[in-house]
Amino acid sequence: MRETSYQNNYSLIDTHCHLDMTEFDSDRDEVIKRAINAGIERIICIGTDYESARKCISLSRKYRDTVYATVGLHPHDARLYTSEYEEKLRTLAREDGVVAIGEIGLDYHYDNSPRQIQQEVFIKQLSIARELNLPVVVHSREAKADTLRILKESGLTRGVMHCFSGDWQMAEEAMAMGFYISIAGPVTFKNAKRLLKITASVPDDYLLVETDAPYLTPVPYRGKRNEPAFLIHTVERIASIRGVRPADIARITTVNARRLFRIGKLPEKGTLAYQIRDSLYLNITNRCSNACTFCIRFHSDYVKGHNLRLEYEPDIEELKSAIGDPSRFKEIVFCGYGEPLIRLELVKKLCRWIKAKGGRIRINTNGHGNLIHKRNILPELKGLVDAFSISLDAHDEQTYNRICKPLYRNAFKAVVEFIKEAKTITDDVTVTVVSVPEVDIDKCRRLAGELGVRFRVREYNVVG
Ligand code: SF4
Ligand SMILES: [Zn+2]
Ligand SMILES: [Zn+2]
Repeated sequence: MRETSYQNNYSLIDTHCHLDMTEFDSDRDEVIKRAINAGIERIICIGTDYESARKCISLSRKYRDTVYATVGLHPHDARLYTSEYEEKLRTLAREDGVVAIGEIGLDYHYDNSPRQIQQEVFIKQLSIARELNLPVVVHSREAKADTLRILKESGLTRGVMHCFSGDWQMAEEAMAMGFYISIAGPVTFKNAKRLLKITASVPDDYLLVETDAPYLTPVPYRGKRNEPAFLIHTVERIASIRGVRPADIARITTVNARRLFRIGKLPEKGTLAYQIRDSLYLNITNRCSNACTFCIRFHSDYVKGHNLRLEYEPDIEELKSAIGDPSRFKEIVFCGYGEPLIRLELVKKLCRWIKAKGGRIRINTNGHGNLIHKRNILPELKGLVDAFSISLDAHDEQTYNRICKPLYRNAFKAVVEFIKEAKTITDDVTVTVVSVPEVDIDKCRRLAGELGVRFRVREYNVVG
């Protein structure tokens, strides 16, 4: 069934598709074949009621390792729910190939079932998910407050807001509970302004993609029946919105989907070097002299679909072979999943090697280098480092201590000093802050202006 040579080399997971529906009765085999040829490695077939879930399960048997099933009653039909119905769903949900409870939720747009009943049925199915330790696929339309309240009360932390259509606040609250945000075909529509902003802002670690086929066909097939192979158009649009390559979105969302639904393999070994756009990022240590509240290391081992959790710190030879030819890249970046300047001697040696081979170097640092080594290390990096990206992260010492929890006293002052010193060895210095509520971004921008360096606001949970 599986083919190995995928067009474009993408490997995608369509996390929401209704392959069981009659729209696919005449050509289901062909649809699945086309999906596989287009690089869709897995399809989650979403049940909307008992009968549909049964069909999804039998499809998951027929196309084992490609199709997976979910079990749930859609809010449209919530009024059909009885205790016998619940028992039947529960039994189905234990079958092989079932990876989630869903789709369940609230739909106040159509109001096909009374709202009170929708809520009760949503709550009951959430408890099935908890009981069976399965993630949930949530459908929520024009029902933000009730959806969030019920999810919070359920205490569940694994799920996806499918075909996300809410606002940014809803996305943030869902992500804070651990839920993924799944983007579907509407992101390719002309009038998708709000969705565009959300698609640009969701951190990598929370992003999923879906078709919701046969519905919501993306441009350029809008108007036709949707099918999993069309997912690539949604992915291409998301990539262009986020300024990355479709292959990056594919890798990121595929890892996320595998994690959420516990299907397929995850990259096990820590990645030493990974490409984002034209830059190569090096992961040389996971140690850091800060413990920032927003640090992605405390939330995930994965950045843009790469496992950055190192089992051990690589030596220089391993890093050289992970880099290959440095001149192939616009720049080589020492990444911020840990503080690279903790390994100063290795950094210097590696920089010398990269420079000799015609590479350009940027170091992403928390600016503690001088504190860590108890001397001004910048002169030692002169001629080796072309650019610095330094995390300022706060507008004053007190805020810095609160959100970055540095190992050292007076760290904020030291960071400011480091910025000044960095300027003496290169013109290319950028300071960054993460957009968290405690931080006064304007004050930080002013401080950067006074220091005569560039300023950039990093999105929460984005490394690099
Ligand atoms: S400085 Fe960077 S790596 Fe260190 S804790 Fe803060 S966010 Fe994480
Ligand atoms: Zn739905
Ligand atoms: Zn659906």
